[in-house]
Amino acid sequence: MAHDIDKTLLTRKQIELRVKEVAAQIHARLRELTPAGGKEDPRVTIVPIMTGSMIFASDLIRDLPVRMRVRIVAISSYPGTATKSKGALMQTELAAVAEDLLGSHVLILDDILDSGQTLDLAIKSIKAYGPASVETCVFLRKDRPEAQAFPVDYVCFDIPDEFVVGYGLDYDGYYRNLPDVVTLREV
Ligand code: 5GP
Ligand code: MG
Repeated sequence: MAHDIDKTLLTRKQIELRVKEVAAQIHARLRELTPAGGKEDPRVTIVPIMTGSMIFASDLIRDLPVRMRVRIVAISSYPGTATKSKGALMQTELAAVAEDLLGSHVLILDDILDSGQTLDLAIKSIKAYGPASVETCVFLRKDRPEAQAFPVDYVCFDIPDEFVVGYGLDYDGYYRNLPDVVTLREV
């Protein structure tokens, strides 16, 4: 089954401007959380959820001029009722970076908020490691009730409830390198 680009929802330029805007909001917040001259060593850990957030994370963090560690976690999207195996995989990865999470201000990055399952799992798993705070930022949020009702701290774009690719998001592993966010059609 071959696919072709159907509609461009977001252009590279729109994305660039908006990601900078959101980075500025996050930067302001991180400065509040980690004031200069404080006695403690304020720590910031960015946790991008791979692979979908790879481009988003690399753009966003370069507009966050604060001392930070980046610790990626990979969640494969298993079909259906895979919450258990997803959770187990993430636990193993988080356990390996436990000392970066303890007492740290954690910012989770994900490509798209759809059902909210992935982010819910990430938040709960990270909270178990005793972070100072946990905030969440998604590049895209779908216009469907579960996504809109899910509490998230930063959203770059709200999009229609359609399957999209590009800017890190894939279809069967392809299209991650498209600079725009697009929908596909079968050809
Ligand atoms: P959730 O757990 O919120 O249902 O789904 C989030 C994950 O599902 C995303 O990280 C992404 O991997 C995948 N996903 C959901 N919607 C889309 C979409 O429209 N396009 C792509 N490429 N992935 C999606
Ligand atoms: Mg993903």
